Amino acid sequence: MVAVDCFWSSGRNKAMVDRQRVLVIGDGLGGLSFANKLKLKSTNAEIKVVGKSPKHYYKADGLQIPFQLKNYRQSVKNVRFLLHDSIEYLRDEVIRINPRQKTVNLGSGRTDYYDYLVIATGARLATEEIPGYDGEAKHFYDLQHSMELELIIKKFNDGNLVITVPDTPYQCPPAPYQFAILADEYFSKRNLRGRISITFLSPYKTLFPLAAVSERIESIFEDHNVTFKTGFKTVSVNQKNKEVLSETGDHENYGLLVMIPPHRGQSFISDSGLPGEHGFVNVDPSTLQVKDAPGVFAIGDAAHLETVKAGSATLHQAETVSDIISNELGSDYPVRPYDGSATCLLFAGDKTGARLSTSYAGGTTMSNPDRLGFYLKKIDSDLYFSSLIRGMS
Ligand SMILES: Cc1cc2nc3c(=O)[nH]c(=O)nc-3n(C[C@H](O)[C@H](O)[C@H](O)COP(=O)(O)OP(=O)(O)OC[C@H]3O[C@@H](n4cnc5c(N)ncnc54)[C@H](O)[C@@H]3O)c2cc1C
Repeated sequence: MVAVDCFWSSGRNKAMVDRQRVLVIGDGLGGLSFANKLKLKSTNAEIKVVGKSPKHYYKADGLQIPFQLKNYRQSVKNVRFLLHDSIEYLRDEVIRINPRQKTVNLGSGRTDYYDYLVIATGARLATEEIPGYDGEAKHFYDLQHSMELELIIKKFNDGNLVITVPDTPYQCPPAPYQFAILADEYFSKRNLRGRISITFLSPYKTLFPLAAVSERIESIFEDHNVTFKTGFKTVSVNQKNKEVLSETGDHENYGLLVMIPPHRGQSFISDSGLPGEHGFVNVDPSTLQVKDAPGVFAIGDAAHLETVKAGSATLHQAETVSDIISNELGSDYPVRPYDGSATCLLFAGDKTGARLSTSYAGGTTMSNPDRLGFYLKKIDSDLYFSSLIRGMS
């Protein structure tokens, strides 16, 4: 493990550092916010972002799009518009990292080299890992599927809406719970609630993994007439019988099935021999540096860390790594080691919102739901596009 202090005061003469090539893989929140932050801090960095999604989508809006609370056009912006002018953007796909040679191979056939490499390739949605998922279960974890769900929900008039979380980790732990609450409000407004039941299947012993937060969500579910089962780890879908099956042989029938897809790292990460579980890269928890790969860091959902996969966590990690690299390149920023912090704003029903916060030190807390939290949640995409992703946080 490399301590932050010795990493950046490694004996170089800061004033004499040559321009260094910083290559960022991934054009999502982590990649773009990191590149913009580093640009603001260092003139000695030649920054290039390689990514395969030139239209950037604000994923948290995936909760609102299915219920027509947001038009998808407000949730998408061109990557070029979000990146500082002097940062190079290459639309391509990384297929392999060669840490010894300090190069990456791209899908187009070219090879790029780096002095520093930041992996920010997020998570892959591995629906194929649940037999019966594809062609039957729905989700709201990318734009295409959120829009598909909007059309399906519009036509869903009666039956059991089942929401299930088969596997961890997944992005934004409170998201599926919010989906259940928003579904109740949507169907109530359409006077369909008498004909539609909502059932939440939780894989944990309690509804939410932390008891104190769980009690609060239970009470919100009660107000919204959402029933739930705990210890239900979904392992497969029987499409013919329209039922989901659990590890212990329990089952639940559905009219409409919404299932959070299992999350895995991108396959090129394990193909490159980088260490990690399920393809998520093992990193030092406070410096985000990849062990035995000099100059290589992983941030955001791509990293294997003992904290949640969330945009707010990603932004803190981008801050730490941009401080470390800019100091290596001659700047003088106080490095804040990453402490596992993440904060998610969530819809808590009846036009209220709450804040869920966590860190490595534990003590996950949920604030009292209030009107301010709701309005902050409603405008969070404005803040995201105008400043957070631009490195100004
Ligand atoms: C429904 C939903 C609600 C959410 N709500 C919240 C919330 O309220 N608060 C919160 O903090 N977080 C929330 N999140 C989580 C947050 O969006 C993610 O944690 C965040 O986007 C992670 O950023 P990232 O850069 O690591 O990954 P991503 O944003 O997924 O970006 C990864 C990028 O890498 C690119 N890429 C992948 N492989 C390659 C490759 N081989 N070569 C080149 N490019 C590649 C992809 O195209 C993509 O653009 C939510 C997520 C979802 C799905």
